[in-house]
Amino acid sequence: MPVFVAYMTQTDIEADFKRILEELQAYKQKDCSFIKGHILGSMCTAPHQIAKKAYDMFLDSNLGDPRLFSGSKKIEQNYLDFIGKMLHGPQGHSGQVVSGGTEGNITAIWLARRRSEGNNIIVPASAHFSFQKIASLMGLKIKSIPLTQDYVMDIEVLKENINKKTVAVVGIAGSTELGAVDPIEEISQLCIDNEVFCHVDAAFGGFVLPFLKELNYPIPQWDFQLPGVSSISVDAHKMGYAAIPLGLLMVRESKWWSNVGVKALCIDEKIQTSLLGTRSAGPVAAGYAVARLLGFEGYKKVIEGCMQTTFHLKRRIEQIGLELVMKPTMNVAGIKVKDVDATVDALAKQGWFVNRISHLSCIRLVMMPHVTIEVIDEFVDVLEKCVGGEKGR
Ligand SMILES: *Cc1c(COP(=O)(O)O)cnc(C)c1O
Repeated sequence: MPVFVAYMTQTDIEADFKRILEELQAYKQKDCSFIKGHILGSMCTAPHQIAKKAYDMFLDSNLGDPRLFSGSKKIEQNYLDFIGKMLHGPQGHSGQVVSGGTEGNITAIWLARRRSEGNNIIVPASAHFSFQKIASLMGLKIKSIPLTQDYVMDIEVLKENINKKTVAVVGIAGSTELGAVDPIEEISQLCIDNEVFCHVDAAFGGFVLPFLKELNYPIPQWDFQLPGVSSISVDAHKMGYAAIPLGLLMVRESKWWSNVGVKALCIDEKIQTSLLGTRSAGPVAAGYAVARLLGFEGYKKVIEGCMQTTFHLKRRIEQIGLELVMKPTMNVAGIKVKDVDATVDALAKQGWFVNRISHLSCIRLVMMPHVTIEVIDEFVDVLEKCVGGEKGR
């Protein structure tokens, strides 16, 4: 192995390599694997093969230093162009790569905060827990808006709460728990009327909704086509088939970035607007490689497959006398069960991993690409045994 470590001999290194890799292998064995398909409760999946190759190629390139890594910077820009198109970014929009939904949300609210005198953010009760971190980091209050029967933000309550003290209103395009899409059109309009920043958290839905729309699913408007939408965050390491950590934050007007920019003289960048400094270009190269390989058409096929699996799940669990919390909008489903803890634990004992959502009395499944119709058939048989006594009760 052509490895150079100054103070070691070649023989030392080879022996150590083997020993250390064996140690890692033993740890890896403890991890669940997407390939076996029994992970039903994750919004991530095994990255596409090409993602692994690309990641490896750019492992040591630092996106935080574009002077040294101008090729990586170009990949980032190409990828952002792809995402900009996907989200119908208007003239003058611009984005940046982030580590995921959490950093995307933090950056969006940070930007909004710098443009506002307010002291609170408004989110639906279904918002991701990252907004609690944001409120704590930035000293903001959270106004949590209750949901309607359809598990989306109640617009009437939003109307009573939005005012000059509002830093931003957050709408969720694909909730983490059920995949529900808030009425972004109404939220966008209220934000225009009140001159408030409107952030759309599409961490999960960003790589689902654009393709569902093209496949003629009844998806209401939710992206930059709505004039009040100020920013959108999207995770590529969820439905983008990319490798962790990769997300994107897109804003309507490029000039807004200066609100969070700092001078970064030592690395020749006029201003740096990313929350993080040193960042590997590996994930971006990986995400971009997948986007190049699949293209919009490829993603459409992936999503359509996931939706078919979701409908199959719905039919199968209804056959065993169970039901979903709500009709699936995307490839996320909550299955109502009487005893959530007992069901989750019984499934885990059999090697099946789902999420526990106690306040909705359900278990949550995400039909990611590794979850096939065959996997669902196997799962439903196990589930039926786990909930055994509770049918027809
Ligand atoms: C997953 C998720 C997040 C957080 O994203 P991370 O990549 O885990 O930081 C935020 N919002 C929603 C709606 C999500 O589904």
